[in-house]
Amino acid sequence: MAHIFLASPHMSAEGYEQEFIKEAFDTNWIAPLGKNVNEFEKELASYVGAKDAAALSSGSAAIHLALKAAGVKEGDKVFCQDLTFSATANPILYEKAVPVFIDSDKETWNMSPEALKRAFEKYPEVKAVLPVHLYGMPANMEQIMDICKEYGVIVIEDAAESLGSYYHGQHTGTFGDYGVFSFNGNKIITTSGGGMLVCNLEEEKARERIAKTRFWATQAREPARHYEHKEIGYNYRMSNIVAGIGRGQLKVLEERVEQKRHIFAYYQEHLGDLPGLSFMPMHEKERANCWLSVIQLREDGPVRPLDIMIALEKGDIESRPVWKPMHLQPVFARYDYIDNGDVGAKLFRRGVCLPSDTKMTDEDLARICGIIRGLWR
Ligand SMILES: *Cc1c(COP(=O)(O)O)cnc(C)c1O
Repeated sequence: MAHIFLASPHMSAEGYEQEFIKEAFDTNWIAPLGKNVNEFEKELASYVGAKDAAALSSGSAAIHLALKAAGVKEGDKVFCQDLTFSATANPILYEKAVPVFIDSDKETWNMSPEALKRAFEKYPEVKAVLPVHLYGMPANMEQIMDICKEYGVIVIEDAAESLGSYYHGQHTGTFGDYGVFSFNGNKIITTSGGGMLVCNLEEEKARERIAKTRFWATQAREPARHYEHKEIGYNYRMSNIVAGIGRGQLKVLEERVEQKRHIFAYYQEHLGDLPGLSFMPMHEKERANCWLSVIQLREDGPVRPLDIMIALEKGDIESRPVWKPMHLQPVFARYDYIDNGDVGAKLFRRGVCLPSDTKMTDEDLARICGIIRGLWR
């Protein structure tokens, strides 16, 4: 039987990506600029409803430049979601700023507004707040934005996993001042690697900030005939080939969201009755992209997360644990952590990310559910 991936690249059946790449070859635009880059920025901004966008080499680069655009400097505090991938937090350290990790809540698995309030009381001088939409589940943006507005602090949404996810009818990544998307190889759509920074400030400001981002991303080269530099620059721009893949992938994004949601619904229907097993939270007013389908196992239950991962591995099927919280990572252990009952640590201990590859058939899903159900017998 064929290997089943957790989530792998899924190019369009129509070959859209190849057409855009071919055009780049035919016109010799094999560079970190060109028509595909410009169009991909416009198309993504229009899809999510952002004012402007910059196509970059990765989601991590987008977070880094968002922090710079927010004016985060050495020694500044940044409130960062604790339960996430390290790529959310690393760029804070690139700028020598100081992360304060904020625990999650049970309702969304994302930044707890309650813990965020306590963090503001402790560190009112904070520069920026970085919530995440984990596994495509929207964070509680209504309350998070209310609190951040009260304190007048810049919000950068890490929407790397939530392209196609809406909160109260509005696309994730468009509530805060900045939003970040990733097209890494295992994300819902991929360009092999890449990212996008969107800005949601009013029109003119957004254009100015995104222009500045593009400037930093192309080595901060001043407008002069020779190479003149007043600021530190980066080589963070997306290539025109990669952007071509992105334009093609964007055409099948809605289809991929439907497939991901079908996978989640299938697991719910076929595993929902197992004692001690529960699913990541879904809310009425939201459309989650279900990037990964994630379950939780009761700690005193008959089956542990590792049992599932090992049983699936024997069937040549990939699964993985929930993200390990940042405050438990050796590299971040010395930074402050605002706890909300250790929700994130519990989700980590009890969680399994089930195979969520959009190329799976219902037969594949039946095989996975069969293996998991077997552990309860
Ligand atoms: C993938 C991911 C990133 C980083 O994106 P890259 O494009 O891989 O640099 C950031 N945050 C989260 C939550 C992610 O899942």
